[in-house]
Amino acid sequence: MALRTIRTMGDEILTKKCKVVKEVNERTLELIDDMIETMYESYGVGLAAPQVGVLKRIVVIDVEDGNGPYVLINPEIIETSGEQTGSEGCLSVPGKSGIVTRPNYVKVKALDREFKEYELEGEGLLARAIVHECDHLEGKLYVSLVEGELEDVKYDEDDFDEE
Ligand code: ZN
Repeated sequence: MALRTIRTMGDEILTKKCKVVKEVNERTLELIDDMIETMYESYGVGLAAPQVGVLKRIVVIDVEDGNGPYVLINPEIIETSGEQTGSEGCLSVPGKSGIVTRPNYVKVKALDREFKEYELEGEGLLARAIVHECDHLEGKLYVSLVEGELEDVKYDEDDFDEE
């Protein structure tokens, strides 16, 4: 496994629509493993393939619910309900956050790393992560949905305290 470079806003690849994955081969699995490693290394809750420069419909998510990391290949949102308004960030927009309204419940159909179809339901943060990452596959960044201004993320010094 290897870390991949995360593309940041301004990079054209983040505005492009991703291609459907037709098969999972060695290279696809390597990409998925690298994406998971890169997501954890960056303390993200999700990462989409275009964020590491690959225009394929692949997403990884881990919201620390004990069931991750989720691998979603060719994800399709099939149901949404409710609404949540809250702070959102993106590894491709480092140091920023903004308020975005998303559905509070999402059901998505996708293929797993064995290319088997499954469904995943999420509420709260998981729902937010699913729609955010699926947007990446359409070349959409959350910044276009922000209500008000993008804000600088302020880090509390205690976050870096090793004690
Ligand atoms: Zn993102």
